[in-house]
Formats: sequence, C-alpha cells, structure tokens
Amino acid sequence: MLRTETLQHCPICRGTSLRRLLVAPDYESHSGVYGIDECGECTTAFTNPRPVEDELPKLYEKRHGPPRKNTYGEGLFAVHIGPTLQLVRERPGLQIDSVEPRYWPKLRFIVDIPGLREVATWNCVIRVRKRLS
Ligand SMILES: [Zn+2]
Repeated sequence: MLRTETLQHCPICRGTSLRRLLVAPDYESHSGVYGIDECGECTTAFTNPRPVEDELPKLYEKRHGPPRKNTYGEGLFAVHIGPTLQLVRERPGLQIDSVEPRYWPKLRFIVDIPGLREVATWNCVIRVRKRLS
C-alpha cells in the first residue's frame, strides 16, 4: 500500500486556507481516491493527500519500469565533439578515418562546423584506426 501524507498547508506558500477542488479515483496507485486542493492564498492546486517522498521511486518504476542503466550524471555524461576530436588527434598511435553524425552520416559536413556540430550532431561517431609506425 502506498504511504501518503495529508498536507495542512500549501506546498508553495505554506498558506493554510485550502479548498477542496475535486476528489477522483486513483488509477495510478490504486490507493482509493485522491483529492485536489487549491490554496486560497496563491491559487496553487495540488494533490492532497499525496504519496510521501520515499514512495515516489516505486510509483515511477511501476509506471515506467526499472531505472535505466545509463543515468545522466552517473554513467552517462555530456561529451563535446571538439575537445574529443582534439584528444584523439593528440594520440600519436591513432589515425582518424572519419567523423560523422551517428544518425545522419550523409550530413558529415556538420562535424566540420564548430558550435553547430555540438548541437546538431546529437551522437557523433569517430572511426579511428591504429596508426602503423
Ligand atoms: Zn499557496
């Protein structure tokens, strides 16, 4: 059963003048019904009662499945094309064969335009081979 909390104040302005706008069946968590309250001071409408914060990951996973393997900031990071190309070019044992947008390889010219390539390429493929000495 989903644990919930009933707010006695607005989560935005902390006003205590709350008005019940509606009560509806809870199809998401199947915990009965949920209400929508409106703050009489700032007019924010919010779910009340609402799931406690610790329950939110379970609720999310129930709807969207388990968390993805590559979470941004943990195993997935923003990498820019310009600095990456520079890094590869500085490696004496590597030779770049081609650089192209992963999903639009025919638009290869985009990767030659600094700035544009960072936003228009989305994913970049750098084909590299070991330089024969
Ligand atoms: Zn308020």
